[in-house]
Amino acid sequence: MNKIQVKIPCRYVGKAAIVYDIDNTLLDVSERLVRSIIEAGGDPIHGLSKMSLDIRRRFWSIFLSNKYIHLDKPDSKAIEDVNRKYDSGYIIILLTGRPEYMRKDTIKQLETYGVKYHILIMRPNNNRDPDYIYKPMVIEELIQKGINIIEYHEDDIKTIEKISKLFPTIKVYRHNASKSNISKFF
Ligand SMILES: [Mg+2]
Repeated sequence: MNKIQVKIPCRYVGKAAIVYDIDNTLLDVSERLVRSIIEAGGDPIHGLSKMSLDIRRRFWSIFLSNKYIHLDKPDSKAIEDVNRKYDSGYIIILLTGRPEYMRKDTIKQLETYGVKYHILIMRPNNNRDPDYIYKPMVIEELIQKGINIIEYHEDDIKTIEKISKLFPTIKVYRHNASKSNISKFF
């Protein structure tokens, strides 16, 4: 497990920050998911759990590419929440499991949907850790760099549980972009 290097401009140090995931938190990615499963040779009814290793590998290389991101839909309620907090003066950090090679298209997508943010942190291209390992490492790194994280927004339950446990002072919110739903996680 490699340490994640995160560059933070010093003007953000000590300021209150809010961290948001992107996929299924700000954007509904269910169509990209289904199309990627079908193209990989899997069955969307059974989802990822019943896939063979081969199909699963193929799925991830399609899903984590720019091929179908045009199918993603914005969750307007979640994006309003981000933009309201940005306008109130919080530092908005987007922390995504999308790899660095998707950066250009991700920035374009965020611009199209009017998402306001300060920092976009993406997974290093050679990193294969699951989100519940990778994201807490980044949060730890941000805290060590002096970022005062007060809220964390995410859809993935394993990541949510891990972050709530490791960082009890951060308020954690669970999102479901396909249902436009945000709830406080206890
Ligand atoms: Mg997500």
